[in-house]
Amino acid sequence: MTKVCVVTGASSGIGEETVRQFCLQGFRVFMGARRLDRIRKLAEETGATGLPLDVSDTSSVRSFVRELPDTVHVLVNNAGGAQGLEPVTEMAEEDWLSMYQSNVLGTARMIREVFPRLSRSQEGSHVVNVGSIAAIETYLGGAGYTGAKHALRALTDTLRLEWMGLPIRVTEVDPGLVETEFSIVRFSGDTRRAAKVYEGMEPLVAKDVADAIVWSVTRPPHVNIDQLVIRPRDQARADKVHRRGENRRIQDEGSGKVL
Ligand code: NAP
Repeated sequence: MTKVCVVTGASSGIGEETVRQFCLQGFRVFMGARRLDRIRKLAEETGATGLPLDVSDTSSVRSFVRELPDTVHVLVNNAGGAQGLEPVTEMAEEDWLSMYQSNVLGTARMIREVFPRLSRSQEGSHVVNVGSIAAIETYLGGAGYTGAKHALRALTDTLRLEWMGLPIRVTEVDPGLVETEFSIVRFSGDTRRAAKVYEGMEPLVAKDVADAIVWSVTRPPHVNIDQLVIRPRDQARADKVHRRGENRRIQDEGSGKVL
């Protein structure tokens, strides 16, 4: 029987590549994001079904879930990201609210609404939450994003407790620096500032993370991969990045400060 996989945040980066990888593995994939033009293009390329989805909006989540088959085997909660890199004393409330909406509440909404479909799977099902090393570390200017991803981690761990005895696996995949549109979004479209994040180092690419997600899902049903932390070799901590080039300096991630 063909298994059904749902991927949120599929219009770019990790989500887009995760859709490709699950399609290649023979899953029937349903995907969503706000940028429908991107979703339509990916649907044409892969054969996945694309639907509008804003995880920060309960009615959008409900409309999306209504279009899914009665049984869902895999839910990948990937939609999210960071906005801004300001110190707490300069907190931009809109950005913080938006990060909590997409990374935390959006994931919880998706899980609540898809849960009945996950429960119908005879073979068991699987929820994969895309966290970040920001779920386990903090760094200067990162309190809004690290707070949201720490909260997502608490949610993920709690699910494993609440679902003990149910045939639903729960995995968190926590990447370090991945070159996607993440930094362009974080810096509100400033592509030069975004490019600096990856300057002189070799970041992960979306496929590296998609591979880890697919690997965790394709383990035997009794095996639960709790957490996968995956970083570029050039990154030892969120704010410790090895950069090649002049003086082989070690710089912090966002502000470019030499540490
Ligand atoms: P990306 O290229 O910016 O992709 C983010 C995706 O999330 C887009 O498809 C975007 O689609 C979607 N999204 C954002 N808000 C949404 C919302 N409210 N409703 C539905 N979809 C939404 O960045 P990425 O690196 O692939 O990020 C994917 C996940 O990985 C995020 O959770 C991010 O926090 C995490 N992560 C990234 C890195 C990194 O370095 N890149 C590291 C650790 C963790 P639309 O804008 O079209 O809705």
